[in-house]
Amino acid sequence: MENREIRYQFGSLDNITPETFGEPGNRTFRLSLFVESYTGLVWLEKEQLFELSKYFEDLCGDNPDRKDNTGFRECLLASDYQPTEFKCRQLSVNFDKDSDTFYVECREEGETIDDTSSLSFYLSGSQAVQLAKAGIEICESGRPICPLCHNPIDPDSHFCPKSNGHSKL
Ligand SMILES: [Zn+2]
Repeated sequence: MENREIRYQFGSLDNITPETFGEPGNRTFRLSLFVESYTGLVWLEKEQLFELSKYFEDLCGDNPDRKDNTGFRECLLASDYQPTEFKCRQLSVNFDKDSDTFYVECREEGETIDDTSSLSFYLSGSQAVQLAKAGIEICESGRPICPLCHNPIDPDSHFCPKSNGHSKL
């Protein structure tokens, strides 16, 4: 599944961490990627991180016969690689059920490979589950939980299915 259009191919990650910065309602989110001595930072919208986490959780959260490392891919970064950091506009994910491995592509906005940063990485099922847990946790943290519908409340507005509309708190 290697893609020549992708500038930085991290291969199977050693570690991936979701992080958040800033005040509730005005937070930013990123993924820190680690493989060998290489690192990368991908900034995401909260919705992207949340959807990615839910996707991981839904697809492999309860996989009974988890086998790790069958989908291991080598890191293809050059030795002169400099740590990359960009805001992800396009996120795409593939799941290979047989090897219990996710393939993720992150792209910055741009027309060609030269003016666009992009990277790809692979995650084992257990790494994906860990990321999903942590990702959902930080997406939902920092916001109070609605006593009616038990969903997190955004500071600006909350559409509450239990009260048929917006409730100001
Ligand atoms: Zn509610």
